[in-house]
Formats: sequence, structure tokens, C-alpha cells
Amino acid sequence: MMTKEQILQWLEQFADAIAQNKEYLTQLDAAIGDADHGINMDRGFQKVASQLPKLAEQDISSVLKTVSITLISSVGGASGPLYGTFFLRASTAVAGKQELSNEDLASLLQAGLDGVLQRGKAQLGDKTMIDALSPAVTAFTQAIGQGKTTSEAIQQATAAAEQGMQATIPMLAKKGRASYLGDRSIDHQDPGATSVYLMLKSLSEVLG
Ligand code: ADP
Ligand code: MG
Ligand code: MG
Repeated sequence: MMTKEQILQWLEQFADAIAQNKEYLTQLDAAIGDADHGINMDRGFQKVASQLPKLAEQDISSVLKTVSITLISSVGGASGPLYGTFFLRASTAVAGKQELSNEDLASLLQAGLDGVLQRGKAQLGDKTMIDALSPAVTAFTQAIGQGKTTSEAIQQATAAAEQGMQATIPMLAKKGRASYLGDRSIDHQDPGATSVYLMLKSLSEVLG
């Protein structure tokens, strides 16, 4: 179960995690991209964080939709539209819900993943945020299917995201700027997969 209060806490926690890891995410992007992933994400999530007090009056779906619009309008790059799509689809998936059951949370995550897949057209193994997000969604859905609590399920999802993030290191990038490097993209951790891991980790801290 997840309340609206916890959704707001998650967004705040994620914004903090991005701020704390801004340099790290940018360094990862310097190796295989254009050194702006931390800067892009921090710009968007600081804006989201500044809106949170105002969002306290809105329902869950509206909060997520506002996050989406904020990210699309302020982040830029590849990650802006992709994270924007994640939160837009997430918003639609939980329309009308006052709180989220484990099944609702699974639908939210699955819808977000599907949106990123459709928008970015990356597949598992292409060295993108999908490589952390997809295993996380699978792990969460499996865990709730086994009757695990929200907290246990999100911890398993976070562990899967972390493994997925680490698994991007030996991958050859097939999408995004890193793909321009060909073989030189190998042996580097994908920045977007890393920010996705931080998103799941923030969620598990709130639901822990
Ligand atoms: P940009 O590459 O435009 O500078 P960012 O640096 O903010 O944007 O984000 C880069 C991240 O975006 C990559 O590390 C990767 O995880 C993700 N990404 C890029 N293209 C795609 C795609 N087509 N599908 C999914 N994720 C992608
Ligand atoms: Mg970049
Ligand atoms: Mg860029």
C-alpha cells in the first residue's frame, strides 16, 4: 500500500538523491555522453521539489502528471522526455486512486516502463535506463504475486535495479549518445540506468 503522502515523500527523496549524486551522474555521462545527465536531472527535480508544497492538495494522478509536465518542460536531452513519459503513463495508470494497493503500484511501474519503451524504442541490453527499470518492474510484480509486502517487494525491485545498473557496464550502447561511441561505450556504467536505480532506492526508503 502507498499513500499520497508517501508519493510526495518519494519525489522529495528522489530529488534529494539526484542533488546528492549530481556530480556522479554527470561524471558517468562525461565518459559516454555529453556530461549533463546529473545537471539535467537536478534541474528538473529541483523544480519538482519546489512544487511539492503546492501539490499537497492534488490527488496522486494529478501529482504525477504535474511531475511529468515539469520534467518535459525543464529537463531537455533524452532523459527529459523519457522520465516525463514515465511519470505521464504512471499518472494515467492510477487515475482516480486515493491510495495505491500493491497491484496499483505494479500497474504504475509497468505503465511507466511501457511508456519509456515506446518512446525511446530501446530494448533490454541496449545500455539505457531500461536495463535498470525493466528488471525492477519484473521483480516487483513477481514479489507481490508471491504475496510479499509492499516494503519487501520494493526492496527486491531496488536490488534488481541495482544489478541491472551494474550489468550495463560491459554492455555496448545501442541507443542514445553513448551509441555513437560504438565499442568505446563498453566498460562504463550507464548514467540513466543509475538515475533509475536512485529512483527505486528512494521509493524503497519511503516504503521501507
Ligand atoms: P542526453 O543524452 O540527451 O544528454 P541525458 O544525458 O540526460 O540526455 O540522459 C542520457 C541517458 O538517457 C542515457 O544514459 C540512457 O540511460 C538514457 N537514454 C538515452 N536514449 C534512450 C532511449 N532511446 N531509451 C531509453 N533510455 C535512453
Ligand atoms: Mg547527456
Ligand atoms: Mg545532453
